[in-house]
Amino acid sequence: MNIDWKNLGFGISETDYNVRCYYRNGSWGELEISSSPQISMHMGATCLHYGQESFEGLKAYRGKDGRIRLFRYDENAKRMRTSAEGIMLAEVPQSLFQEAVEKVVKLNERFVPPHGTGASLYIRPLLIGTGPQVGVRPADVFLFMVFVMPVGPYFKEGFKPVDIMITRDHDRAAPLGTGHLKVGGNYAASMTSVAEAHDAGFATALYLDAREKKYIDEAGPANFFAIRDNTYITPDSSSILPSITNKSLQQIASDMGMKIEKRHIEVGELETFEETGACGTAAVITPIRKIVDKDTGKTYTYGDGSNPGPVTAKLYERLTGIQYGDVEDPYGWITILD
Ligand SMILES: *Cc1c(COP(=O)(O)O)cnc(C)c1O
Repeated sequence: MNIDWKNLGFGISETDYNVRCYYRNGSWGELEISSSPQISMHMGATCLHYGQESFEGLKAYRGKDGRIRLFRYDENAKRMRTSAEGIMLAEVPQSLFQEAVEKVVKLNERFVPPHGTGASLYIRPLLIGTGPQVGVRPADVFLFMVFVMPVGPYFKEGFKPVDIMITRDHDRAAPLGTGHLKVGGNYAASMTSVAEAHDAGFATALYLDAREKKYIDEAGPANFFAIRDNTYITPDSSSILPSITNKSLQQIASDMGMKIEKRHIEVGELETFEETGACGTAAVITPIRKIVDKDTGKTYTYGDGSNPGPVTAKLYERLTGIQYGDVEDPYGWITILD
């Protein structure tokens, strides 16, 4: 096998196996192993017509000791159940989710990148309605599957500050919609704004609350946080996805002696922050250099323009240190696969 671990991007690649499980007649079947990346389903499947689809994203990391580590995957299992409940998919039991993740990682062990390369094995669980319906109602057959691929950093620049753009032309989620669920529909709704941001030279779009366009929601596929006066500030909103990375950073920040504020953040407050960043599994933290608000003509800038701020850097070091097993995990977040 010839993989250039140090130059991996964040993209699809084939591995040896994936795992699948069907829900039929009211119960989950056996976990199956497949070596084909294809699935077959009725063209009337509800996932295809009505977006009855939920996914998760997590990673396996190889430590210096060569052992493989999973990070807080019990939380991904819980969140997928919340998503399932929210769009009437069959819920995947905690034990089935965890067994599927463990199994698919072990089966593809040779694709878990070596320690020190900055790469990891990205794990993508997926839950879809496969039963056909033509009227709008939930499927009666569901498919849960997990596939994996080795990935490098999400942004090719790595842990380098990026510029993002506030969007008022589109919302990704309504206040009482599905923004708090990890479902494909939110992503379909975000594609135009993210593409517009890319075309204008920005890494992603920053969404405001859909009701008043007054408060920060989140940044594309990542939560937003800001640092000021030894305080970690992150939005409280019914339409953002509860990020496990964000939750972990809050714990780490708190243990570093910082205050934590989870509350509305007005756009104008951007002016007062010392550092800002976006966080999620894919990139862990993406430091923000510049936030451009085209509608008001304002640009908010952070740091020296080329390096992450000191607090952002410390949070990043600590969290990735725990994930790769380089620093002690006092929280029980890591599961070592043997
Ligand atoms: C997955 C996701 C995140 C990040 O969540 P993590 O659990 O930290 O990976 C943030 N925002 C959206 C919209 C997401 O789908």
